[in-house]
Amino acid sequence: MDSYRQMWDRLGLNLAAHDQLMAALPLTYADVYLRQENRPKGMEYFDFVVNEIHGQRVKELQDFRDQGGKVVGTFCIFVPEELVLAAGGIYVGLCSGLDIGSAEAEAVLPRNICSLIKSFMGFKLARVCPYFESCDLLVGETTCDGKKKAFEVLGDFAPVYVMETPQKKSVSGRALWLEEIRQLRQRLEDLTGQKVTKESLRDGIKKVNAKRRALKRLSHLRRLSPAPISGRDALLISQIAFYDDVERFTSQVNALCDELEQRVESGIGIAAKDVPRIVVTGTPMAIPNWKVPYIVESGGGVIVAEELCTGLRYFDALTEEEGDSLDDLLENVAARHLEADCACFTPNTRRMDKIVDIVKDYEADGVINYVLSFCDPYAVESYQVEKRLKSEGIPCLKIETDYSQEDAGQIRTRVEAFLEIIANK
Ligand code: SF4
Ligand code: SF4
Repeated sequence: MDSYRQMWDRLGLNLAAHDQLMAALPLTYADVYLRQENRPKGMEYFDFVVNEIHGQRVKELQDFRDQGGKVVGTFCIFVPEELVLAAGGIYVGLCSGLDIGSAEAEAVLPRNICSLIKSFMGFKLARVCPYFESCDLLVGETTCDGKKKAFEVLGDFAPVYVMETPQKKSVSGRALWLEEIRQLRQRLEDLTGQKVTKESLRDGIKKVNAKRRALKRLSHLRRLSPAPISGRDALLISQIAFYDDVERFTSQVNALCDELEQRVESGIGIAAKDVPRIVVTGTPMAIPNWKVPYIVESGGGVIVAEELCTGLRYFDALTEEEGDSLDDLLENVAARHLEADCACFTPNTRRMDKIVDIVKDYEADGVINYVLSFCDPYAVESYQVEKRLKSEGIPCLKIETDYSQEDAGQIRTRVEAFLEIIANK
């Protein structure tokens, strides 16, 4: 730990504030994760990663930087991980799910902004995140107005590059996005001093696709009943996917899937066969935002899928690996990254179709529509989600909340009533 303290000090962290943050985490983690009964043994690796959240991985990033490597911070699944790898860099997701540094964030942002934006700004300004301080470049995007303007502010405190994301998946929207991917390639090459080649990009695509395949394999196992793994654990794995070493992470997820296949064969589940099966849709849940999954699963349900960017939206689509030229592969990357049905698109009807398909595929009994307060894209799109689910006869509960624990009791009451209604259907 002492060597980590020196590392955090060198990174310029506010050590007193960082100590407070680290002291709060293990308590939450024990409650939410370690007390689960009958948990797969393969989760030990992911427990280790959380236990070392500001330790081992940050040390790996420093070692990489000491060798001249560059670290790129991202905030959205539209920023292609494969392109960062192809330029010789390492990516880390910086979205955070903890109410910290709010006072610092509110000094530069309005109070009424979503917790996700406030949280990443707070982590940066309060100097408590070693990942932020390890980044040589932050790559933002114009997905929603809050983020778009927040990146201008963030630019006063760190080097920021912003990609323009289209609002429609039209011919012109796709052309704009391809050009943005080409320009990002150039920016990453300038950063790392390494050229992106057809070979390096194909290699990056293959590594990230292997990670996506492993996560899809895990997701497919959750279709079975009884569910072999909790939604909490699956969410945690998705959250860790954004910053762990890509190859190590992939092999650990595959090892966990091997174990889950055995559990399925033996009929072992994390919950009984007859507990209500829930799909969560909506705003992404960045680490360590586990509030609603914990309430659902400790209240008698099991989450079997997440139509979230910390879920299926992140890994469901693969990038085509074939192509005769570098530009072909860049086109594949651009096309793949427009597959995500983020609420920033208009219209976004395919998202509604997908939610219904997921409910059917995973034999779910109901949907929780999770919206982060002040997240306009998902809050307004809730109308479409709920209309569609109603027309399909699928029970839905909307939960609008933030990162605080103040409303946990009230959410628990509503979730338990919802689960009871579903169970009695
Ligand atoms: S919800 Fe939209 S903006 Fe947020 S990470 Fe997902 S794709 Fe990006
Ligand atoms: S899409 Fe929603 S949750 Fe994400 S940054 Fe924008 S307002 Fe916040």
